[in-house]
Parts: sequence; structure tokens; C-alpha cells
Amino acid sequence: MTADVTPLPVCPQCSQNDRVRRVSDLVRDEPESPLAQKLAAPRSPQPAAVIGCATSFFATMVSISAAIFAIGLTELTSTAPRTSLLFGVRDTSVFTGIITFLFVFVGVHAMFVWRQARASRYFRRAFTAWHRASERWQQLHYCARCDGVFLPGQTSLTPLDQVLMLLYARRPPQPAASPANAPQSGADGG
Ligand SMILES: [Zn+2]
Repeated sequence: MTADVTPLPVCPQCSQNDRVRRVSDLVRDEPESPLAQKLAAPRSPQPAAVIGCATSFFATMVSISAAIFAIGLTELTSTAPRTSLLFGVRDTSVFTGIITFLFVFVGVHAMFVWRQARASRYFRRAFTAWHRASERWQQLHYCARCDGVFLPGQTSLTPLDQVLMLLYARRPPQPAASPANAPQSGADGG
């Protein structure tokens, strides 16, 4: 029985590949096993919430409250004669209310836009890190004999509790400095 898959890389600790499995295969085949849970694929970050109707509604409510407060305050403090009335209050108070409404409405929106810009900046950074970690995870192999994981070319085995550190490291572990450690081609005769 022959399988035309690429040969598994050898474990850097025991230098054999008879107990080595691809982590992605292992997780796919037995997702409920404790080992698969430890070696699960990195979770993707959640995108930032989008400014929507709820934000506008919130901004409107805050603005109306501020406008009513401003009208009340102007009415109480104003000494202008009540000659020109609009909706039962002085027109200067109405003017103050409208201005307050506009400023608060724009201000609340600006705050949300600023917060969202910051959140999406964080998200982009998290997404880049996650993407790199996922690509590395696809290359991850597990040696059952040594109970550790490694990437092809890695010179030392990584314990299971440090798998996230390996996946999210800024630089992948460097392969051996000497070029003599290049992977050997299969030597079986036909
Ligand atoms: Zn091993």
C-alpha cells in the first residue's frame, strides 16, 4: 500500500518520524481528544463592531437631553424680555438648544469614529498575527514519542504548553545554521 504524500519530517529530539503526525490531521481526525484541544488551531480575532443605528440612536438621545438641558439653563439665566416666543420659550433658548444638539450629536459620533478607528487598528494587528500563526500551525507536527511539537527545520522540540508562543513568535525558529542539515531525499530503491 503506497501513499503519495510528502514524507513526514523527523522529530528534532528523537530523529525519527514514525510517531510524527501533522497537527492539522490530528485535530481533524480526533477533535475531542485532550491532545487535539491543546493543539487546536489559533482562533481568529473578532472584527470591531460597526457604527450603526444603535450608535446614531444613542447620539440622538444624548443630544436631545443636552439640548433640553441647554434650553432650560438658558431660560433660567436669560434676562432677555419674552417678546419673541417660539414653542413657548425664548427664541434665543431655542437657538441655544439647536446649537447644543448639533455639537453634541457630532461630538458623540466623532468619539465613536475615533474609538472604531482605534479598534480596527488593533484588529488589523491581531489579524496579521493570527494569519501568520495559522500558516505556522498548518506546518506544525507532533511527535507522540517525545510529546512535543515542531515546525519542519526546527532544531529543538517545543513542549505542548509553549505551542502558542511558537505559533505567535515574531520570528519563526531558525533552522540549523549549517547547510549540512538539509533534508535528505528518500533512498529506497524500486
Ligand atoms: Zn520525537
